Amino acid sequence: MAIEPKIEIDSLLEELTALAKISEADPPVVTRVVFTEADLRARAYVRSLCDGAWLTVQEDAIGNTFARWQGSEPELAPIGTGSHIDAIPNAGMYDGTVGVLGGLEAIRSLRRAGIRPRRSIELVIFTAEEPTLFGIGCLGSRMMSHVLTPAAALNLRDKQDRGLDELRTQAGFSGAFESVALLQGRFHQFVELHIEQGPLLEQEGIDLGLVTHIAAPASLRIHIDGEGGHAGGKLMPGRKDALAAAAELILALESAAKSSGAIDTVATVGVCEVFPGAVNSIPSHVNLETDIRDTDGARRNRVIDALLAACSDVSARRGVTVTTELVNADPPATCDPAILAAMEASAQEAGRSCKRMVSRAYHDSLFIARIAPVAMLFIPCRGGWSHRPDEYASPEWIAGGVDVLARTLAKLAG
Ligand SMILES: [Zn+2]
Repeated sequence: MAIEPKIEIDSLLEELTALAKISEADPPVVTRVVFTEADLRARAYVRSLCDGAWLTVQEDAIGNTFARWQGSEPELAPIGTGSHIDAIPNAGMYDGTVGVLGGLEAIRSLRRAGIRPRRSIELVIFTAEEPTLFGIGCLGSRMMSHVLTPAAALNLRDKQDRGLDELRTQAGFSGAFESVALLQGRFHQFVELHIEQGPLLEQEGIDLGLVTHIAAPASLRIHIDGEGGHAGGKLMPGRKDALAAAAELILALESAAKSSGAIDTVATVGVCEVFPGAVNSIPSHVNLETDIRDTDGARRNRVIDALLAACSDVSARRGVTVTTELVNADPPATCDPAILAAMEASAQEAGRSCKRMVSRAYHDSLFIARIAPVAMLFIPCRGGWSHRPDEYASPEWIAGGVDVLARTLAKLAG
């Protein structure tokens, strides 16, 4: 017989609101950068809620937090759920927090329903999902999944040249960076509840998105060195205009993404710095920063290859020097069919509509996918808005997501 968790949405909303007020900015703006005073207060608040729910709380060397509800067979690998509570400057109150406090409420609702799961269920609060401090997203899950090595983590610096070791020590966390990495199988399965951060569910009037793939970004920096000169004095033949060369590369990237054969391929040049940047001066240097994403790693890499080929071609034809630097290229994740099936059955039991979809933003689950089967559960958010103070998910949407998450956790934990 299917279990019927009762979600206490009012107290969950109170907790979300209380957490939102722990911010470096005035409400409704949420700014909560990792290891700041606001982040530490928010962590203490969430920890107190976990203590209140009788969970066993542990923190690792960089503050990733694990709150465990022990199952009847504690030697089995647990089912993980959770997300993040850090927020970029000028953000809203639902990104990440719905997965953390909603995950906690899912656990509490199962306990209230008299369930005793076989596997433990573990709520995870990941450190620094947002890249604000070190310019790298998903710090906690990257280190858990061995994608970011301890040596590379030691080299991270914020804008004031402070290192991760210094900042986490000040924040009260200690221990070897090596101990953050988790073994394959540490989680039996992992499921993350999150707002969609896109408009589709709301537009289509669908309660829940079952995420089948998480797209992953690759980022390339391109430096073009040409030859400057007077915009009037230097005639067109023989010019080595770095910006004209950059224009060709931008269009080549757009065309490579458009002709990939899949709607999931996207490519963007979001930064274009021109030197010297004067109207009567031929551009001598240009820096471009590109973001290339896809749900299929090989297809995304073909777009990168096409861009690199265009770089050599433009360099040869125009006599400019083009150098490229691959900043990161994380592999996309395919979600676990068993978790998707459990979520689908749970949505049906709860009387909630759902559809399978792709996550075009990336999340901690992208990295946890390297060490455990994962899936994500999306709820709608108004207008698809996120990372802004008017980010909003209705109580009904949140309650639906937490209900289906609770049922899913119960199925997975057996
Ligand atoms: Zn998030």
